[in-house]
Amino acid sequence: MKRKAWPPSWKSGPATGRGSNMAIIAFIGVGNMGGGMALNLVKAGHEVWAFDLSADALARVVAGGATAASSAADAAAGADVIITMLPAGSHVRAAYEGDLFAVAQPHAILIDCSTIDVATAKAMGEAAASKGLAMVDAPVSGGTAAADGGTLTFMVGGPDAAFATAKPILEKMGKAVIHAGGAGMGQAAKICNNMILGATMVATAEAFVLAEKLGLEAQTFFDISSKASGQSWSMTSYCPVPGPVPTAPSNRDYAGGFAAALMLKDLKLACQAAQGAGASVPMGAEAEALYQLFVNNGGAATDFSGIIRLLRG
Ligand code: NAD
Repeated sequence: MKRKAWPPSWKSGPATGRGSNMAIIAFIGVGNMGGGMALNLVKAGHEVWAFDLSADALARVVAGGATAASSAADAAAGADVIITMLPAGSHVRAAYEGDLFAVAQPHAILIDCSTIDVATAKAMGEAAASKGLAMVDAPVSGGTAAADGGTLTFMVGGPDAAFATAKPILEKMGKAVIHAGGAGMGQAAKICNNMILGATMVATAEAFVLAEKLGLEAQTFFDISSKASGQSWSMTSYCPVPGPVPTAPSNRDYAGGFAAALMLKDLKLACQAAQGAGASVPMGAEAEALYQLFVNNGGAATDFSGIIRLLRG
């Protein structure tokens, strides 16, 4: 296909096939999160070439208008934008080093939306730069509902020019796109944020258990603490006891929401990064240990606010 000069100057308008003036997007990893994100790009008018090892995952996006590629390299070879949404750092490294760096067009922007370790994100950003390719790490906040609804928050690490190119694409999948700094800083922001989330959820859940045992009504405690200094997102958006926040997973027997296994993954990434950076994170480490215990006891698929069950004993 015809190569474009860097930086690309995409115009908006309907995609008319490969070689049109609207960015052609390769999407590698169209699972629970990537599937909805890829479909939002299709809805925005982009031609999306998708690849996933799972035939079922691929079938869902093909049904929504994406084109199935036969491999990651096949998807990426003619693309202006290459997005990855994969399980972990090892998958991302294998995809980039195995295929994507080799086949990416010189003007392509590489966007990794997976949640991975900071060290791998930095290494991939630096490897891309050494090859003259633009890359950002752009992990997301928000679950599958936000991925489907196009309301994710992206935390982006990478050079200014790469961020500027990635931003309009990310805006088609999210409500906020924030530049966090250089390569790896999107991942740093994500794991630091989720370390707060894990620790505040444990603290909130144990406070509700203590209130219960002291004879204080959950709703009354919520009414007070949500307007006092104990307030946090864990309390007012994801209250671990049913009742006070009707939309919280606690009202649905902790189904859906943000799986405890994913919270554990993020806490492990945070503790691993803290070790590498020489930072002391005792609360993060305690939250990691508690979520590990919860997952070991069958809580992996339960919403992370279900940790209150473990704390009740
Ligand atoms: P998922 O397992 O549903 O999707 C990952 C997909 O990648 C799968 O369909 C898998 O088949 C595919 N895959 C794996 N290796 C591949 C390869 N080499 N080539 C092509 N496809 C490959 O996971 P998910 O829930 O979509 O999560 C994706 C990422 O988003 C993870 O890093 C996760 O931590 C992060 N995340 C998830 C959530 C959430 O609520 N699910 C929220 C925020 C961030």
